[in-house]
Amino acid sequence: MGHRECIFCKIVAGAAPCHRVFEDDRVLSFMDIQPVGDGHLLIVPKAHFESLLEADDASLSAVVQLSRRLALALKRALGPDGIGVHQLNGAAAGQTVFHYHMHLIPRNHGDPIAFHGRKAGDPARLAENARRIAAELARIVPPLPG
Ligand code: 5GP
Ligand code: ZN
Repeated sequence: MGHRECIFCKIVAGAAPCHRVFEDDRVLSFMDIQPVGDGHLLIVPKAHFESLLEADDASLSAVVQLSRRLALALKRALGPDGIGVHQLNGAAAGQTVFHYHMHLIPRNHGDPIAFHGRKAGDPARLAENARRIAAELARIVPPLPG
């Protein structure tokens, strides 16, 4: 399923590094390398498709279900005031990596609403956030109420 030039396919295949938080047979979550806010996560389907317009239902539902669990884990791990869940389709909409993905962006009161970070995150902080969010996620999955 991998597309040779796609950075997220390389990450899914283990051919490029990332700070992994969770994976199963359909989806992978890892820290955004250039975070908008501390704890910025990405969720990507393992299957390659460019955007929402080409998505298959199984991948989509796996991404959305994981987004809820990860939002809870992120809230418990880092305690942001709010969490933006964003997903950009096409360059005109701001998409820069053409492998469908969902952003979970921690937001605090007063933060400007931005979709892209300005600089690379500190690797030690990314690793620490991945560890803390994964630890909270492990308490949620399974089971998930309601
Ligand atoms: P988009 O603009 O397509 O919605 O978002 C792409 C996101 O992927 C950006 O927030 C960018 O920082 C992130 N990103 C791009 N390349 C890499 C990478 O190699 N590793 C990680 N962890 N994130 C990446
Ligand atoms: Zn891909």
